[in-house]
Amino acid sequence: MTRNRREFLKAGSAALTLGMLPARVSWANKIVDHRVQVAVIGGGLAGLSTAHNLLKQGVKSLVVLESRDRVGGRTLNLPLPNNHVVEGGGEWIGPGQDRIAAFAAEMGVDTFDAYYEGAGLYEIQGLVSKGLLPKINVEQAYDFVRLASRLQKMANRLPPGKPWQADNAKSLDNMTLAAWLDSQGASSWTIETFRVVTRAIMAGYPERISLLWFLHYIQSSGGLLRIALNDNGLQDLRFVGGSQLVSINAAKALQGRVHLSEPVLEISDRPTEAVEVITRKGRYLADRVVVAMAPADTLRIDFKTGLSDQRKELVRRWAGLTKLPLIKHSVVYKHAFWRDAGFSGNVVTDRAPLQLVFDNSPQDASMGVLTAFLSAAEVPAMASEFDRARLVPQELSRYFGPKALSNIGYVEKDWSTDPWSIGCITPLSKGILTAAGPALREPVGRIHWAGTESAEIGCGYMDGAVRSGERAAAEVLALLEKA
Ligand SMILES: Cc1cc2nc3c(=O)[nH]c(=O)nc-3n(C[C@H](O)[C@H](O)[C@H](O)COP(=O)(O)OP(=O)(O)OC[C@H]3O[C@@H](n4cnc5c(N)ncnc54)[C@H](O)[C@@H]3O)c2cc1C
Repeated sequence: MTRNRREFLKAGSAALTLGMLPARVSWANKIVDHRVQVAVIGGGLAGLSTAHNLLKQGVKSLVVLESRDRVGGRTLNLPLPNNHVVEGGGEWIGPGQDRIAAFAAEMGVDTFDAYYEGAGLYEIQGLVSKGLLPKINVEQAYDFVRLASRLQKMANRLPPGKPWQADNAKSLDNMTLAAWLDSQGASSWTIETFRVVTRAIMAGYPERISLLWFLHYIQSSGGLLRIALNDNGLQDLRFVGGSQLVSINAAKALQGRVHLSEPVLEISDRPTEAVEVITRKGRYLADRVVVAMAPADTLRIDFKTGLSDQRKELVRRWAGLTKLPLIKHSVVYKHAFWRDAGFSGNVVTDRAPLQLVFDNSPQDASMGVLTAFLSAAEVPAMASEFDRARLVPQELSRYFGPKALSNIGYVEKDWSTDPWSIGCITPLSKGILTAAGPALREPVGRIHWAGTESAEIGCGYMDGAVRSGERAAAEVLALLEKA
């Protein structure tokens, strides 16, 4: 016999008051029923930010369901000797990223300045140079600045967070960044540099990236210069104890409300009853559900009822995009020897397999760490971890000399083999944003959406994840109060 929603809520809150939950155990299939006001799906920064904001506003009956055996999602601390860590995923923050900064501070996690003292190294179109900027001639510099500032102006004109509402949205979305650069007569140096930039910040190449998406991304991040700059840009600060500590502390503060190793399998939003969320271990009945993950990752959840066609299209097309699998590989040394030679440890190159290299040594510099962003897909010789362990130091020795071969170890995170993050940071290709952009945030029935991809500000970054959680929590609260 089914009960109507009001009866259900009444029963739920009575049970809550009496501290009786979980309400029922079905011994036949070992499924446990739980009644909550809000079920948050995903224990990354977006989900944890959602849960915190709800709890702060007095919603105590909530659960965060996380598929992995850890929180943090696309942030992950990898262990180094002497209790140090280095990040295998999201890491740096910078100016304008106030919400992740505030969330981290609330969770008791401090920041420190990333190391950028000394000369950077560049290798673009075969030319190796060192300094603050790559060595280029006046024409190359002029061409790059001309097109970068044109893109910035176009980005500034978009309606913030709603690029699909721009008058010329369709034409911008029907063109790739590569086609636009071509149409503007970009020099080969400018084209190559944009390839380096988009590969580094978006894990994609201009020929696959919608111009509208690119403009939205740079507008949402505070500008092309802010994205590209390390010092005083979005790679300015690191977290003491690693970025995942923010999520670890956030989960602790939620006091048992985070359920690990509990992937959500099904969600059914039935009009007259609570929303039903099914995991391997239990059945959760909730007034509202917040799905806090990359749209492409939601493809694994079976939405039994009620997804809009636009939402389905967004997810299906995003999940179907060709990805540039990323590996973040950190090589560990006894000492940051490159610093002695006046190098910052930063390398920017268009030469596969390395894309970008950063000095990721611990704050106390008690050992040296060089972290490289690799795309093994582009270099079959590095397809296995075994080969990367040998070949990455060799590549580094091209820039930093033979001392780069004397590493004491390495740690890496290969996102291409991760079962829970198929999206990584995949940029949208042509036509998706205008066809389905509003579905990034628009609730479907009692299902709400969070996750960095849905953020108006900081899209793609940890800051966007935290902001999306704040927005989703506010949406849910307003509706719970009305009910
Ligand atoms: C290599 C790399 C480097 C990066 N560098 C930076 C950086 O320097 N600075 C920066 O700001 N950002 C960076 N980012 C991006 C940043 O990490 C993300 O923007 C942010 O962590 C996304 O958080 P989220 O909560 O939106 O999503 P996620 O972290 O993906 O969280 C989603 C959660 O949902 C869970 N989940 C998935 N499926 C299910 C299911 N069926 N049931 C239950 N749970 C499920 C996942 O396990 C995950 O925990 C980087 C990312 C990567 C991969």
